[in-house]
Amino acid sequence: MQTATPLHPTRATPRIAIVGAGLAGAACARTLASSGAQVTLFDKSRGIGGRLSTRRTVWTDALGVEQPVQFDHGAVGFEAHSLAFQAVVQQGLADGWIAHWAAAGGDHFVAVPGMPALCHALIGSLDVHVHTGEPVTGLHRIRGGWQIERNSGLWPGRFDQVVLALPPAQAAPLLRPHATGWSEAAAQVPMQACWTLMAVTDTPPGPAFDLLQPTRGPLASIVRNDRKPGRQTTPGHAVWVAQASAAWSASHLEDHPAGVSKALRDALRAAINPGGEVRWCHSTVHRWLYARPARVPLGTPGCWWDAARGLGVCGDFLVGAHAEAAFLSGLDMAHAVLSAPATRRTAGSGAARFART
Ligand SMILES: Cc1cc2nc3c(=O)[nH]c(=O)nc-3n(C[C@H](O)[C@H](O)[C@H](O)COP(=O)(O)OP(=O)(O)OC[C@H]3O[C@@H](n4cnc5c(N)ncnc54)[C@H](O)[C@@H]3O)c2cc1C
Repeated sequence: MQTATPLHPTRATPRIAIVGAGLAGAACARTLASSGAQVTLFDKSRGIGGRLSTRRTVWTDALGVEQPVQFDHGAVGFEAHSLAFQAVVQQGLADGWIAHWAAAGGDHFVAVPGMPALCHALIGSLDVHVHTGEPVTGLHRIRGGWQIERNSGLWPGRFDQVVLALPPAQAAPLLRPHATGWSEAAAQVPMQACWTLMAVTDTPPGPAFDLLQPTRGPLASIVRNDRKPGRQTTPGHAVWVAQASAAWSASHLEDHPAGVSKALRDALRAAINPGGEVRWCHSTVHRWLYARPARVPLGTPGCWWDAARGLGVCGDFLVGAHAEAAFLSGLDMAHAVLSAPATRRTAGSGAARFART
């Protein structure tokens, strides 16, 4: 159901639109909403989470019974080095929506029961309006504010500020009419693609493993998804997420999915049962065009913010090539918005809860 924002507002609460409900958008929304802003999140996908994603589907076993299965086909896990993100992780561990993924080595974590749970938890208890399932196709300046356009038309109502929390290539066309320099800079950010294989097999012989990072061949990482904390298991079967390397993905970017699937299944079979066969119960591939930034930014701020126009940009690409970078960029974005005169008057203490360190 759409909740209209009045065109002639009667109160001073800042109304902020965030386009993109991945971790950067969710972190930004959390800080802004807990500081008293009226936040509306838009995302083109069916749900929130962005590249922190879990695909749920079913496969049919030998007896014709449908078996549910889930694949964390974006980020397989994440680390927390900053105090701000560690605070979120500690909260998640205490509440049960984050688990320590000890088998991955080091301090790796996963969200439970699926990766989007992290974004859901960040905004869950707050009054954030979330609208999914349709891309934002345009931003329009009106009377010192903004209107949002989607395929279905103009969103009813006006926003004081707009934040784009998108991969740079997807932010660029929305920025072009309003901030040419930012649009060009965003369009030039190199992003790595990633072909990802999701498969169910019979449990292979030999010792079980949780994570392999091959140094040769098409695959860069192989994860036993059903051995991660809080994931579904099916006795006698193994659930795999296998990610191709950036180099292999780039050189096969436009290949037909059937050919990609065969190449990645051959590589997975060679890794999990060398010299032997594997029985495939289910397999599919997904192509991430914008998986991760190719280079860690040098000296750029954690977000872009034009206070005069009330326009901002955040996302992992402004901080690093990992989930925590997206969180920190979203946090920086919220603090920049809250420091603007239009928002400062209603800012509360919530903004400091995950102050970036
Ligand atoms: C295959 C893969 C493996 C990874 N592995 C790891 C890992 O092991 N560890 C790690 O820390 N990180 C990993 N990452 C990176 C991590 O997932 C990202 O850094 C992080 O999730 C990015 O968050 P974000 O909010 O910046 O962007 P996103 O998550 O991409 O969020 C952007 C959102 O914007 C939406 N959107 C786009 N265009 C529009 C539009 N026009 N209108 C409305 N909505 C729109 C998208 O649907 C999306 O939900 C991996 C990523 C991938 C893809």
